[in-house]
Amino acid sequence: MTRDAALPIAVRQLTKSYGTVQVLDAVDLDVHRGEFLTLLGPSGSGKTTLLMMLAGFVRPDCGSITFGEREVIRLEPHKRDVGMVFQNYALFPHMDVAANIAFPLKLRGVDRVETAKRVEQALELVKLGGYGARRIDQLSGGQRQRIALARAIVFEPRILLMDEPLSALDKQLREHMQIELRQLHERLGMTTVYVTHDQREALTMSDRIAVIDQGRIRQIDTPKTIYERPNNRFVAEFIGESTFVKVDVTSSGCTFNGIPLSLAAQPPQTGPHHLMIRPERLAILQRDPADDVNVLPAIVTAAIYQGDSVLVHASLSDGTMVSVRASASSQAPLVGDHLNLGLNAADTYLLPPEEGVQ
Ligand code: ADP
Ligand code: MG
Repeated sequence: MTRDAALPIAVRQLTKSYGTVQVLDAVDLDVHRGEFLTLLGPSGSGKTTLLMMLAGFVRPDCGSITFGEREVIRLEPHKRDVGMVFQNYALFPHMDVAANIAFPLKLRGVDRVETAKRVEQALELVKLGGYGARRIDQLSGGQRQRIALARAIVFEPRILLMDEPLSALDKQLREHMQIELRQLHERLGMTTVYVTHDQREALTMSDRIAVIDQGRIRQIDTPKTIYERPNNRFVAEFIGESTFVKVDVTSSGCTFNGIPLSLAAQPPQTGPHHLMIRPERLAILQRDPADDVNVLPAIVTAAIYQGDSVLVHASLSDGTMVSVRASASSQAPLVGDHLNLGLNAADTYLLPPEEGVQ
């Protein structure tokens, strides 16, 4: 299995409705050869439907899907050369582990000797060598997840699809498996489309993230760009914590509620804009700041001890609530305290103006 064998995916104008509910709205998506792309969106946004269409289990109303040069819309799932891990694993409980993993090989007419060899290799890859004779109901959740993965990759598909494969696992195992799945992808190199509603998981694992909402892709970019330069408010609010304040941009500069602000970049248009504030970009200033730090006066409305830090809620001069973390070891702010919050000019980001958004 080499990266050269991986196939790029091109989705064009993919549309699907159930009755009056439009689930996918003319989706365009390119997944590069060998890329790990995550579809990230809230529940009901159309992630599973899109993945099921790539796998061939759901027919679109219109649009096209190509793997490499080949249009696959009319191909049966088992002819698409796609491995799939379903959300509920969909293992066969009455078969042993080896028979579960062998299933896709049987479907493709692989002989018994070759099947046994490949099943053992797949088990080794998911770190369950020697587990072939176990029954599915003798396995833990994490082991079942690995078996589902082994079954998806045993026939060396050129595309791997995974639908929230870690959502049933507890936090610690989930975080461990995120790293393992990523490492496995680096070794096998197949083009991977991974579905999750967990933004941190998406940031951790992906080469690129496609943020989907109500059947439309709102942004496709690297984790860093999605987080630091969201194209729109939905993306900004779905990923990480953020607050927005209204600022005025004129040809002579930018002001927030009368306070002049230094920006990382002057936006192309003048007029009202939304400044994105992430809590981790704010600092509680103890002394006069450097020239390139914007000072936002605020009043503390709550200070919540959280062990490693104190979470401070504060009200800016226009009434906008922001949060900022203070060190738990220092003199933590108290409710009613007046603070100066610092925001580096380099950390300012104005959302591109959106139609219909005030
Ligand atoms: P996600 O995986 O992002 O949670 P889904 O793709 O499962 O979203 O579902 C998107 C929308 O399509 C939801 O409103 C869901 O109720 C609807 N939907 C999905 N499958 C069907 C179906 N077979 N029949 C009717 N509605 C469906
Ligand atoms: Mg789903």
